[in-house]
Amino acid sequence: MTTNYKIESFICPCCGKEFETRIVTMITHEGQDSDFLPHFVGGNPLPFYLAKCSNCNYVGYPEDYSLENSQKYTISPSQIKKILSLPLAKKIPPEAIDFFVAAKIYEEQKKNPYFTGNLYLRGAWCCRLIENRKAEIELQQLAIRFFKVALEKSTISNPDTVSVVTYLIGELYRRLEDRKAAREWFETTVESIIDPEQQWLLELTQKQAELNEYLIN
Ligand SMILES: [Zn+2]
Repeated sequence: MTTNYKIESFICPCCGKEFETRIVTMITHEGQDSDFLPHFVGGNPLPFYLAKCSNCNYVGYPEDYSLENSQKYTISPSQIKKILSLPLAKKIPPEAIDFFVAAKIYEEQKKNPYFTGNLYLRGAWCCRLIENRKAEIELQQLAIRFFKVALEKSTISNPDTVSVVTYLIGELYRRLEDRKAAREWFETTVESIIDPEQQWLLELTQKQAELNEYLIN
């Protein structure tokens, strides 16, 4: 079993053009990194989670193209151009740029910062897969920023997800070698876990907290 794709057609909510693109329908992975990057069997399918308009570069998840969402969250081609001309956009490799642009569009549309953070995190994963550490750092920092806003503004309704995001902030700080911040967020994670079904997260947090204290690299 490997990754499956299908060709789907979309109508761009930004410029109105119809286009076809390849979308991932199923992935196979064996294990994952400690920030949940799946170890894919075969090539990186992440970019195919997003659909990009070939005319104006609008990019989003397939559900962002639904009539309901595209009417609710509007964006103009000039806003997309502005995003692509940001100095930071120039530092992001082609493998990750769609996640960066999709996240910036979510920012413009003031969508749930948890989803924005997730887009930046996926962009950071794409950078890791091609060993572009500089761009990975930029996107990890953005992921942290939006995950923190999501927690501050309580935009995540599921308490189990709150614990996972709290852990992720700690783990991203650890990967950014900010030991003090990582320690604080790991401690908060341990305190936040009440569901016995999250024993796996408790164990993972304790393991990464230990690495944070003792691993010298
Ligand atoms: Zn378009």
